[in-house]
Amino acid sequence: MLYYRIFGAMNLEDLSTLESLLSKPQSIVIVPHKNPDGDAIGSCLGLHLFLQQRGLQSKVVAPNDFPKFLKWMPAAEGIIVYEKETQEAEKLLSNASLIFTLDFNDFSRVGPNMEKALARSKASFVMIDHHQQPSDYATATFSNVEKSSTCEMVYDLIEAMNGTAQLTPEIATNLYAGIMTDTGSFKYRSTTSATHTAAAKLIERGADNMDIHQHVFDSNSPSRLHLLGVALRNMVISPEYRTAYITLSQEELDTHNFKKGDTEGFVNYGLTLEGIIFAVIFIENKDEGIIKISFRSIGDFSVNQFARNHFNGGGHDNAAGGRSDVSLPETVAQFQKLLPQYAKQLNP
Ligand code: 5GP
Ligand code: MN
Repeated sequence: MLYYRIFGAMNLEDLSTLESLLSKPQSIVIVPHKNPDGDAIGSCLGLHLFLQQRGLQSKVVAPNDFPKFLKWMPAAEGIIVYEKETQEAEKLLSNASLIFTLDFNDFSRVGPNMEKALARSKASFVMIDHHQQPSDYATATFSNVEKSSTCEMVYDLIEAMNGTAQLTPEIATNLYAGIMTDTGSFKYRSTTSATHTAAAKLIERGADNMDIHQHVFDSNSPSRLHLLGVALRNMVISPEYRTAYITLSQEELDTHNFKKGDTEGFVNYGLTLEGIIFAVIFIENKDEGIIKISFRSIGDFSVNQFARNHFNGGGHDNAAGGRSDVSLPETVAQFQKLLPQYAKQLNP
């Protein structure tokens, strides 16, 4: 099995593997992770439209639906949602000869049902991703944890494939949107001069930065803002551990007409408090019988490790997710009990 990791510049071997896969007739499917975010959707659609420019047909199959604030993205209407259109999605996956997996590092990240379909597949896999600890299922693994976003990696790939002339405004818009959302509008540590250079080139190729920002961030509903008010009131601050956490119960979500994506970004408010370096949000999901947890940190405290060690999750050093199968109060109690173990790391 060929296994390539890319740190820094793209190397020629990686490219030739990809070019050789793309030089043969293929049935191509592109897959983002479950609960896809702007980077997952943007990278899949950007790659899909780029392949189209090269005369290759592909389909994007997402494990489940994605929030309204991403529905405007060019070509988003063509995404097949596995959870809703299971038969069609299963057919596409079983007929695929080449599957790109974007913005995730392990089959389990697509959820249990679609995971089985991927595991059964006889296709060649290409991974493009920036999360830690990539699994080795792919024929070509483009993994770079230093990169701001999978969209930046897709941009790098297009450039390395001499494809910049084929970067349409639609491709540029998708990739810009993913870079913008995954960097918190260019403010996270993962944002480098290369990120800004890619963003600048994407603007030159037709991405309208103001328009994209408005679509994503200025599309609030009144009920979402009221829910944010509840979340902020529920915030518990532990200065001794430099930690702030938020809870949202199913009842609170229901009262505020919760729609997918409404809680996106809430967790980050904890980090805006002076001195706070660890922020968490616990969101009850009665349908799935779980508590979905998001972790964020500033500096060296690895929430990837914390989520892996205690909450069946993972992600990046400064942004990770996880879940718990016990009740909301029990999950919070578990979390509070863990903090003293981390006192030295949180408050050195
Ligand atoms: P979020 O908190 O926004 O759901 O996720 C933050 C980051 O952690 C994202 O990059 C996401 O892909 C990753 N992540 C979220 N949930 C999980 C999980 O359950 N397992 C793993 N390995 N990564 C996750
Ligand atoms: Mn990402």
